[in-house]
Amino acid sequence: MPASSHINSTERCFKYLSQDDWVTSGKIGSREAVLVFRTNILNPKTRKTLLLTPTEERELKTADSQVTLSTPNELIVKCSSSPAISNTQQNYSSRGKLYVAVEKSLKCKEIINFDRRNPIRKTLDAFSSSDASVSSDGDETVQYNEKKSRKPQKSKNSSIIEIEVNLNKESGYDSPSAASQSNTEINTSEEDHEGFSEEDNECGINMPAHHLKITYKFIQTETKLLRKIFNVHGLTEVQGDSNFNLLWTGVHMKLDTLRNLSLYQRVNHFPRSYELTRKDRLYKNIERMQHLRGMKHFDIVPQSFILPLESRDLIFAHNKQRGPWIVKPAASSRGRGIFIVKSPDQIPQDEQVLVSKYIVDPLCIDGHKCDLRVYVLVTSFDPLIIYLYEEGIVRLATVRYDRNADNLWNPCMHLCNYSINKYHSDYIRSSDAQDEDVGHKWTLSALLRHLKLQGCDTHLLMLNIEDLIIKAVLACAQTIISACRMFVPNVNNCFELYGFDILIDNTLKPWLLEVNLSPSMGVDSPLDTKVKACLVTDLLTCVGIPAYTPEMRTHYDSKSSRLRSSSCQRQIDTTESSTTLRSTKSKKKPVIPLTQEEQRILRSARLQYTRRGGFVRIFPTDDTMQRYGNFLDPANGIPISTPNVQGQTFQALVNQHNYNQMLHSNLFCMGQRSSKDDNSQENRIKQYERALETDSEIPFLKKQIVEKCEEEGRRLRKQMLKKIGSGSTLTHFQARQTFSLYLESVLRRLTQDPKDSHEKIIIKFLTKYGGGVKPPVLFRNSQNISKARSAMVAKLLGDFLELYKRDTESYIDSFDHFGMIPTNAYSLFLMHAQESDLEAVLTHHTNITGIMPFLYNRCGLSVPPTPPIPSGLHGFLRALPAMVSSFGVSREVSKYDGYFKSCDKNCENVHDISLRSRSTRDSK
Ligand code: ADP
Repeated sequence: MPASSHINSTERCFKYLSQDDWVTSGKIGSREAVLVFRTNILNPKTRKTLLLTPTEERELKTADSQVTLSTPNELIVKCSSSPAISNTQQNYSSRGKLYVAVEKSLKCKEIINFDRRNPIRKTLDAFSSSDASVSSDGDETVQYNEKKSRKPQKSKNSSIIEIEVNLNKESGYDSPSAASQSNTEINTSEEDHEGFSEEDNECGINMPAHHLKITYKFIQTETKLLRKIFNVHGLTEVQGDSNFNLLWTGVHMKLDTLRNLSLYQRVNHFPRSYELTRKDRLYKNIERMQHLRGMKHFDIVPQSFILPLESRDLIFAHNKQRGPWIVKPAASSRGRGIFIVKSPDQIPQDEQVLVSKYIVDPLCIDGHKCDLRVYVLVTSFDPLIIYLYEEGIVRLATVRYDRNADNLWNPCMHLCNYSINKYHSDYIRSSDAQDEDVGHKWTLSALLRHLKLQGCDTHLLMLNIEDLIIKAVLACAQTIISACRMFVPNVNNCFELYGFDILIDNTLKPWLLEVNLSPSMGVDSPLDTKVKACLVTDLLTCVGIPAYTPEMRTHYDSKSSRLRSSSCQRQIDTTESSTTLRSTKSKKKPVIPLTQEEQRILRSARLQYTRRGGFVRIFPTDDTMQRYGNFLDPANGIPISTPNVQGQTFQALVNQHNYNQMLHSNLFCMGQRSSKDDNSQENRIKQYERALETDSEIPFLKKQIVEKCEEEGRRLRKQMLKKIGSGSTLTHFQARQTFSLYLESVLRRLTQDPKDSHEKIIIKFLTKYGGGVKPPVLFRNSQNISKARSAMVAKLLGDFLELYKRDTESYIDSFDHFGMIPTNAYSLFLMHAQESDLEAVLTHHTNITGIMPFLYNRCGLSVPPTPPIPSGLHGFLRALPAMVSSFGVSREVSKYDGYFKSCDKNCENVHDISLRSRSTRDSK
């Protein structure tokens, strides 16, 4: 079937949905057409207006009243249901910016037709050149910017204008979303704020992605927000070996998966990304650049050593300039296993760790240390295309910063990780998406505004952050490019969102701490939800999920596989003239036509740029060649990071195309650029400083809390105890489920109402279960650190629970077995059970059966005898340490947490060491 017929049949599917709203960069079926993702569809209120059926739309029209927003300059705005305008102008912003036709004869009072399906938002788009702009700040409510870069179909006397209305309630004007709400009488019940509803999954059926049968697949990733975004946009989840359009994995890609990717498929990692995302690899790559290019260019990471290999170098460095040093496992995250020491002799030698100079003078907000998480999108390594997301997250430590070395043990003062600080009882979460500088999580833009008010040079700070990002990517790019050439068949198959962790010192110099593979998309507050939902939707639109039907996929795929070389290497048309290579050699730039491959790359880069949403392109920009050209191979434009490869080995691997040069010349040097560069430094900085705004509130994906019925819990508990008494047993899965729910209740208590004795029990249990390590010294220390201690115990228990729950998934069993407690009845019990109910069942089951399926699977050789568990409140908790063999079967906890590590005979606890060496010194 020819592609065009698929296109027509696909188009017919969209009876009432304007595909222009959800597909961009071409008509459905064209090679470059991709899906559009927006946050406004996440909100059930706006979703309803976005996805009206024709009948509903007609009904709405009759009920539609004119909504008049009387603004200070008396602009009257009328909402209408007409989609006509949006059809004349493609709307790329995932946050639903609106383009409307406005009669040129606008004087004092004008009527502007809104497309109801595109709720409007307050924003200052730094990338748009504003002709008639009324500031959204202050008194004015409406601002409109003419987007010159786009080519709207204008009627004779109308111009395409982007209307941005201040939705700020404080302004006293009705927000359009409020207006549409009153028109459509949309239910605003609590349910709107729940994470998931059936409707979320169902609403996607109206979307082009659903008709195009676009699928996604997850592998080992935390998925709530992502899944919701995919589902409401009409993507369908697939599992196993099924074909996918988008693969989102939390781990590195298998090379085989990469090799077999088709033209239409997208995956969220590049091969060998670990060059950037493993702490030790990143440091080595940057260190190599320091040697090759000079320290002054690559002084972007704290001096670091990989132990035990570089122990002597560390001691040498320490003797030159004394510590403290921060010790991190080479491949871990979320603050796990990190500790700070005053000198290298306090570092255990049994595991490979990265030891970095501790930055003792960090930037503090109101006395609290903070660090930044910024989001960096790389859509291509050759040519290099890097975007920095306009908004980032600032994480603050809960305890006020104090340089005194005696406080080095305190993670809630020295580490800014949310996963540590969230357990501290003083940790404050903002409860409103608009509160960007409240509590212990701020936005980047709020920090910049705060610093600016204090007279800091935020412009320079952000330029330095851009520079740091580009240099880190350049340092690691070479290996990734050669892997892409070997394993990735099509140029657009891979993209990657990296989470850069950056510490700013008190001179405002940014330091790169690490780069995270698969940065967390978990959300803990409305603010988090707003930033991450905008980030993900902008990311997906920018990257571009091809809007092909399955038939079109086959069509394009067979075309591309005809082109593809017989090997798995990416097709590069070497028969065509290597124009850019020649153009770099000659001083004058001859106008030589681009090769087909170059044209494709250029076109794709341009289209991608128009879809960038909140992403700011930081490479290439008009001055990147001038600033970073020296780090690129002059012939092929590949970043060079190994001296022996320069001009030799690597050139043999790649074809002589200089895509970086080609892209730069065509985007910036050949008269293509408009006089007003929308990606200029000034505009980029403005964009970082402005607050992220959305056209409609994004529901906070709260955990669904099932209302427990205490009485029902007690009734079911009696039933379960009776069953156990008469010989039924819990399956492994049921036992583990009960135990993790029980520990969750304990964890909740520890964070809300810490109890010293219970903390000690938990530590004892985790210590033994983790392989016989002694409790770290901080737990035996003075009383005034109790809040931090509680936070650490809770963090350890939280980490343990996470691993435990993951393990429990492998026990999933929904069959009813003979002699076992029936699945459905038990699930009901778990739904209503309180801590005491769970404890009663666990106690009874252990005492009667003499087995502990929540801890052991009976295959273990060292299962200890079950202790007699006293009945009564917390009896089970008190018996818990005795249930664990001191030669425990799992070292999970100690493996993942440094505070917990290294304290048995072979391996001394670092804090013990520090304490002992202190006391030895004291006794001397
Ligand atoms: P993780 O991957 O476990 O989050 P990071 O490298 O991001 O590890 O470090 C965790 C925390 O430790 C950071 O939030 C930061 O506050 C602190 N930190 C890390 N390295 C340094 C350093 N060299 N100097 C000062 N603080 C640091």
